Amino acid sequence: MSSEIISTEPATGAILWRHAIGDVDAEVAMARASWADWASRSLTYRIEALRRFTNVVRARADDFADLIARETGKPLWEARTEVDSVIAKVNISVTAYAERTSQRRLDAPMGSRMAVRHKPHGVLAVLGPYNFPAHLPNGHIVPALLAGNAVVFKPSEKTPAVGQFLVECFHAGGVHEGCVRLLIGGPAEGKALAAHDGIDGLLFTGAAHTGVALNRAFANRPEKILALEMGGNNPIIVWDSPDLQAAATVIVQSAFTSAGQRCTAARRLIVDERLYDPLIAEVNKLVGRIIVDEPHANPQPFMGPVIDNQSADMLTESFVELMTRGGHVIRHLERPFETLPFLKPALIDTTDVSERPDIELFGPILQVIRAKTFEDAIAEANNTRYGLSASLLSQDPALYDQFWANARAGIINWNKPTNGASSGAPFGGIGWSGNHRPSAYYAADYCAYPVVSSEAEQARASIGVGLTEQ
Ligand code: NAD
Repeated sequence: MSSEIISTEPATGAILWRHAIGDVDAEVAMARASWADWASRSLTYRIEALRRFTNVVRARADDFADLIARETGKPLWEARTEVDSVIAKVNISVTAYAERTSQRRLDAPMGSRMAVRHKPHGVLAVLGPYNFPAHLPNGHIVPALLAGNAVVFKPSEKTPAVGQFLVECFHAGGVHEGCVRLLIGGPAEGKALAAHDGIDGLLFTGAAHTGVALNRAFANRPEKILALEMGGNNPIIVWDSPDLQAAATVIVQSAFTSAGQRCTAARRLIVDERLYDPLIAEVNKLVGRIIVDEPHANPQPFMGPVIDNQSADMLTESFVELMTRGGHVIRHLERPFETLPFLKPALIDTTDVSERPDIELFGPILQVIRAKTFEDAIAEANNTRYGLSASLLSQDPALYDQFWANARAGIINWNKPTNGASSGAPFGGIGWSGNHRPSAYYAADYCAYPVVSSEAEQARASIGVGLTEQ
């Protein structure tokens, strides 16, 4: 077994970074030793430290974006937007903390008072995915710190360099080194961290199969908080939508931004069969214009490679499987270089595929399904165990009302892409997309627990019934 993690650039195959695997016990111990002091500081103190962190990120934004682009393969312009999200997270979290978990006084009788306050859990483990290696872990880490927790963060083994950069920015901003610990490692270290007695909870963003395994591992530990943000098999329906060019644009943005490596990416395009020919022609034309290239290329690419060759191989196999099950190829999943994970976006009609696999194909593959009625389209949209995002393209508000009422997802959009959710709103899904602990704006909820206190300056009490005479 290797004792180090090696990160390579997807676009070139060059080694970017290597580091010894970390020590789970040591990192948890350091966080445990630090959290009580951090928790006892004032909220203002913690907010100031986090604001200094954003200043550090601002000052290092170019290097940060360059590293994200090189380690994930995503275009530089997109990596820059990820850095912006990291910065924006602090102010969003401060507002969310105040609105969702701040102090409240309740009325109480006879000069006493009742207060609702929130306390941090202690040490929270954060496991991050590779597709947004800075923004998504940061979306757990910032609210966790704000609430007074210490964090042990294990970045994805595919994007450890970005994880390290993020942690260095926290420390440079003045967040105590013991309060944000970096654990370098792969699934084995993730498992060991999740099982560690010294953590009080786990905040996870990643694949559903990993989340389900973690859910099982936490089944007999009800005292630990577990927040799971997982994937989706997201539908986008097109019905009664006259502007097919605009529809095609929203579809392409939904399915192929980030090379389809977004949890909210559209995986299934469900279309009114009467619109099928002209719509698919429009989508296919636009897909043919997509530039797939390395992150720093000029002209700027729409998308880069997928994360690694293993992922490209798996996607290729899944595409072939859909073909063999009766899928009709509209546009092939081309792989221009055999040894690099660039994939050109693909379209496949799977209407006649028997037993369509309900799995998340985390890459640039869009399945197209024809529907006869709007009710069929909604049934098809819900034909998944996931429930993250769903979108309807239609000019008819009544259809949107029907869709909103019946679609099963945590994000339901109208004439907008399935992806691009705002950090200023709750973010999460149902089914295999999460465990009802949404993140983003609602992350405050799982980073602290409420404590209710009845309080009076002096003990004053009497028993009115049930006592013998004195
Ligand atoms: P992943 O599940 O493979 O890995 C995520 C993290 O868990 C990594 O740090 C990994 O090392 C660790 N890990 C893997 N197996 C583990 C185990 N058995 N025990 C403990 N830790 C383990 O996910 P990924 O491939 O890095 O990320 C892509 C997935 O993340 C996609 O499914 C995507 O939909 C999902 N995702 C979800 C959201 C969301 O907010 N809902 C956002 C982004 C990505």
